[in-house]
Amino acid sequence: MRVCILGSGLSALTLANAMVNENICVDILLSQKKHIINKSRTIGISKSNFDFFNQNIINIEKIIWKIKKIEIFTENFNGEKILNFGSSSDQLFSTVKNINLYDVLHKNLKSKKNQKKIKFNKKLSNIKNYDLVINTDYSNSLTKKFFNKRIVKTYNSFAYSTIINHQEIKNDVAMQIFTKKGPLAFLPISKNYTSIVYSVHNSKNQIQESIIDLIKYYNTKYKIKKITDFENFELKSFFLRSYYNKNILAFGDLLHRIHPLAGQGFNMTIRDVKILTEIIREKLSLGLPIDHSVNKQFEKKIKHKNYIFSNGIELIHEFFNFERKFNNPFLSQSVQLIGKNRSVNKFFTKIADEGLIF
Ligand SMILES: Cc1cc2nc3c(=O)[nH]c(=O)nc-3n(C[C@H](O)[C@H](O)[C@H](O)COP(=O)(O)OP(=O)(O)OC[C@H]3O[C@@H](n4cnc5c(N)ncnc54)[C@H](O)[C@@H]3O)c2cc1C
Repeated sequence: MRVCILGSGLSALTLANAMVNENICVDILLSQKKHIINKSRTIGISKSNFDFFNQNIINIEKIIWKIKKIEIFTENFNGEKILNFGSSSDQLFSTVKNINLYDVLHKNLKSKKNQKKIKFNKKLSNIKNYDLVINTDYSNSLTKKFFNKRIVKTYNSFAYSTIINHQEIKNDVAMQIFTKKGPLAFLPISKNYTSIVYSVHNSKNQIQESIIDLIKYYNTKYKIKKITDFENFELKSFFLRSYYNKNILAFGDLLHRIHPLAGQGFNMTIRDVKILTEIIREKLSLGLPIDHSVNKQFEKKIKHKNYIFSNGIELIHEFFNFERKFNNPFLSQSVQLIGKNRSVNKFFTKIADEGLIF
């Protein structure tokens, strides 16, 4: 049995590692466009996804930074904290630099080349040679042909990401501030480095200096020494209407892309990897073929959960967007009150950690 994975991003490499660990032979077809991994980007990985990654994909303990708490503020509420999520252990979630995760995943796959479990190809020979084709690549002809029907949302916002170098502190608390211009996240990645993602409304062609000024204005915690160059891109979310066409399955951000405000995009993909490998493992153990039925089962199992989850993120975005325009502390006061309820707080922490558990 041979599976083909199309694409060279984090989703493709993560899934390829998971499949090889299941003793499945994988051909990776690298994207036609050179894959550029953003140097200033980090990913927050939830605790349960981190555990799954270590056990089933590859051990990433050495490249992550543990976060104990997240604090949420809103500018409308005099900069007061409105929510606070913590963990009884020392790890609510972890952060990792995209580039470091990419390198570890890529290196591990390369080391398996000699065992003939993995082949890196530049051209797709014949899709019919494969039992299953998993597509994470936006730019290929299969995407244009089969995966173009999607529910799309544009935010009229740009995300700016950078890394600041600052004086050493304990740095195990992440922070999100809902500013008048959009959500600003501070994600610690070591004692003296913190990654920043600022999703700014109506900010096409915003000059870097003005974003730096805004970051300095809202930063009350770090004594900044240096700010690296920014990367920016237009924010969009979308959701594919159909997950597969026969034996070809869409995967990763091609399947569902969400606003980065809750740091959940890649976490959704890790949960997808878990479900997909479970389905394949079960079929193999029963001696059943790995074919289009895997895709059908996968869609049935996860599509509705991903849809509800994406809409939940959308709701958070709309709520704070409304609150920003409304310019009244009443909404924040209500959220603060609800967030103080321990059961409610625990419920939301669990969903952010494990996704929808029903
Ligand atoms: C600023 C930012 C911060 C993020 N932080 C987290 C996080 O903390 N935790 C987490 O689980 N996931 C996060 N994500 C999502 C995560 O980066 C993607 O899910 C993952 O990189 C997709 O890999 P891929 O191989 O499927 O796609 P790729 O082939 O790597 O392509 C995905 C492309 O889409 C871009 N992209 C992703 N989401 C959006 C969006 N909403 N609007 C516009 N472009 C987008 C990426 O920058 C990349 O260029 C973040 C995304 C962005 C844009």
